[in-house]
Amino acid sequence: MTPQRANNNMVTIAERLNNAYDRIAKAEQNSHKTDPVQLLAVSKTKPIELVQQAYDAGQRLFGESYVQEAVDKVSHFKQHQDIEWHFIGPIQSNKSRHIAEHFSWVQSVDRLKIARRLNEQRPTNLKPLNILIQVNISGDDNKSGCLPSELEELAEFIQESRQLNLRGLMTITAKTDDPQQQLEYFQQMKDCFDKLQAQYPQIDTLSMGMSGDLEPAIAAGATMVRIGTDIFGQRQ
Ligand SMILES: *Cc1c(COP(=O)(O)O)cnc(C)c1O
Repeated sequence: MTPQRANNNMVTIAERLNNAYDRIAKAEQNSHKTDPVQLLAVSKTKPIELVQQAYDAGQRLFGESYVQEAVDKVSHFKQHQDIEWHFIGPIQSNKSRHIAEHFSWVQSVDRLKIARRLNEQRPTNLKPLNILIQVNISGDDNKSGCLPSELEELAEFIQESRQLNLRGLMTITAKTDDPQQQLEYFQQMKDCFDKLQAQYPQIDTLSMGMSGDLEPAIAAGATMVRIGTDIFGQRQ
């Protein structure tokens, strides 16, 4: 009889991170990518101890979605200057100040009002906030994100804002069982990204792909994937 693992908790965060990096490396090889794809570890709802374990295993990019929880975590790790915190959740305008003060990246900007507030609220002693515009590429009613037709105006506003630094695009695609459809959404995002980059050559980040769909995202040209479940386990 082969020994069996008692449960998933026996697998350490370090092993899970390794597995995620292996998966990314395979996907990079399959799509002949040369620039390494970045991994954002999505730690929302997960305790400080697990973030610490991921940090100890070498992870430095973390993503959070809920403002209060996120601010608590960022404050806890204040001494760890090498952690880069990305806000990836929906943004209510009355919470934007906390985001402007505690994060170095915001990936979920999808309307002018939020961009304006983040620019006004970003403390001037901090570097400009790195911004990804979230695009609702699948036109899904339940997903936040601007429509591709709204990108130009939003990008222009961010570009002209002193305290914001336009870095690229982010998307969460609708769940689909059709791999071809999924790949098409990611390819449409890549088209949007290429168009934007022709206008703003400094943009360098296309954030797409999660635990369930990182392979097609990388095949289509993602430069960053956001992985929660596969590193930290299922959320409640
Ligand atoms: C929760 C979340 C993720 C991580 O999703 P998993 O399926 O757990 O990998 C990625 N991106 C965003 C925007 C999220 O909210």
